[in-house]
Amino acid sequence: MTDVLVLVEGQGSVPTQNTLELLGAARRLADATQGQVKAVVLGAAPTPLTAGLFACGADQVLRAEHPLLDGYQGDVYVAALTQIAGQAEPQVILLADDSCGKEVAPRLAHRLNAGVVTEVLAVEGDGPAVLFRRQMYGGRTIATLVAQRFPVVATVKPRTMAPASELAGRTGEEIAVALTLETSLVRTKVIQKVAEEVRGVKLENARVVVSGGRGLKGPEPFKQLEELAQLLRGAVGASRAATDAGWVPASWQVGQTGKTVSPDLYIAVGISGATQHLAGMTGSKTIVAINTDPDAPIFKVAHLGIVGDYKAILPKFIEKCKELT
Ligand SMILES: Cc1cc2nc3c(=O)[nH]c(=O)nc-3n(C[C@H](O)[C@H](O)[C@H](O)COP(=O)(O)OP(=O)(O)OC[C@H]3O[C@@H](n4cnc5c(N)ncnc54)[C@H](O)[C@@H]3O)c2cc1C
Repeated sequence: MTDVLVLVEGQGSVPTQNTLELLGAARRLADATQGQVKAVVLGAAPTPLTAGLFACGADQVLRAEHPLLDGYQGDVYVAALTQIAGQAEPQVILLADDSCGKEVAPRLAHRLNAGVVTEVLAVEGDGPAVLFRRQMYGGRTIATLVAQRFPVVATVKPRTMAPASELAGRTGEEIAVALTLETSLVRTKVIQKVAEEVRGVKLENARVVVSGGRGLKGPEPFKQLEELAQLLRGAVGASRAATDAGWVPASWQVGQTGKTVSPDLYIAVGISGATQHLAGMTGSKTIVAINTDPDAPIFKVAHLGIVGDYKAILPKFIEKCKELT
């Protein structure tokens, strides 16, 4: 029996996409082992988010309210989750592999004397065992890790797991958890929040991603990529070579150390297809690559490969899209 604790987040009553994916993974794991899904909602006051979590697969919603939980603060989240895990006694604790999860997971695991697995792509029950899959060696291989003891804290890579399917009318148990949190816990404070400017669709949610690499040889051609992305109602991504060069923002980077995307259509322009780039986009349903080098590794994963100079191909492609849309 594997009980799975999930840290959920949302805006108003709407869970984030990451949360839906965590709940989906937790539900499948709990179902395979006759366990329970326990969703944790942290905040300064009750939130409307709680009500919808049962429909998304939670058996229990553990609500913890405290003035110190007004907004994310790593030290406080670690302390709160340590106390909640102590009471709920889950075998597996799932967090999103975002900035919060990356900060909290190892610290939480240490406090709980638990194992920790990061950047998980798949989690499944195999009898009493729980298996985690993650990339190793820069995406060259997938490792399967077996939990030797519980609990295990894991961070789940966004856009790698199917989200929870909603089941209207599903109910569960809501439990208010009392926490002991002191202001002395807070050793760092957020002094400024800078909202990332997103024009159009968010990269990680886009159904079409048009990505550019070093082959574009500068920032200017990215305007063409933006035009194409706009026509296809998609987002623009980039290889690390392009973001490191400062041609486009770092937040556009796709890959092992960037974002993981799994759109319906991924168009790679002037990208060689290094394993670290492939690590973030091979979940795409259809991959189109434009590259002058017929031996570029990107063609090994591309469903449609165009060998040639993007300068000759892209304008025609954009014209055709304009005709069709
Ligand atoms: C620890 C680590 C983590 C990393 N994480 C990431 C990551 O998250 N994401 C990532 O992308 N990289 C990552 N990298 C870097 C990665 O190894 C590659 O260096 C990088 O992906 C290369 O980017 P690129 O394909 O744009 O450039 P290149 O490898 O230089 O490829 C450029 C391509 O453009 C083609 N080209 C040139 N001119 C044209 C033209 N006119 N028309 C069409 N094609 C043309 C060339 O044939 C070539 O294939 C990481 C590396 C390390 C060590």
